Amino acid sequence: MSLGQVLDDLSKYVELQMDEGTSSAKVSEDVMGGLKGAVEGQGSQEPVTEAAPKTSDSPGSGADLERIALEISECKLCQLHSSRTKTVPGQGSPSPEIMFVGEGPGADEDKAGLAFVGRAGQLLTRMIEAMGYTREEVFIGNIVKCRPPENRAPEPAEMIACMPYLKRQIAALQPRVIVALGATAVKGLVEMPKGMGITKLRGTWMSFEGIDLMPTFHPAYLLRNANMKKYVWEDLKTVLHHLGRPIPEVKKRG
Ligand code: SF4
Repeated sequence: MSLGQVLDDLSKYVELQMDEGTSSAKVSEDVMGGLKGAVEGQGSQEPVTEAAPKTSDSPGSGADLERIALEISECKLCQLHSSRTKTVPGQGSPSPEIMFVGEGPGADEDKAGLAFVGRAGQLLTRMIEAMGYTREEVFIGNIVKCRPPENRAPEPAEMIACMPYLKRQIAALQPRVIVALGATAVKGLVEMPKGMGITKLRGTWMSFEGIDLMPTFHPAYLLRNANMKKYVWEDLKTVLHHLGRPIPEVKKRG
């Protein structure tokens, strides 16, 4: 990714924030320093680019994923490295039909080094099992691989610095469908139409580099708004239908 593209992405992100009613979009000096490092680092380090050359590893072998996870474990491209306990590259099948992408690790994930293992993760597990899969049959990851302090949303420059890892993971996984969990995940992956938030976008097919992408609510939001679960189930049924999978009957639970 060129410097121009990075800055263009950042500019679009800030515009989107302002479209959604944010009066200002603060980017700290530290973050700008991290962004600069991210851009400069691409000239001197292992390729951290969206167009990483294909290796001899066959797609789905898991070797690419392990290499990416190793790079992530040593990454200091943004300020989030300084407060993390463990990096959280994501985990699951190396050749999944579905990849779930959330925002970033929380406290439980930061301790475990695994994505979606807290309360929201338990709900995601129930969602995945309701679809007829196990967690091991899908891949679960995030936009940023290190925990933002105090569970704040990742800043634009942090997302931009970390995106090449996710892009490389997606290239290695080649999922048939990406389910983007929450507004931050959607914003990280696609350009959100002006004036449209996750409430309007959910349930509508989008595309990430040729892969079908379904936006839906984040499980953490569902923990606070149980009445929204029915909409997520509708979105997940749409995914199952798209994949030609049977729609399992779901037992009601809280
Ligand atoms: S969040 Fe991503 S870019 Fe930032 S330090 Fe962690 S792995 Fe590196």
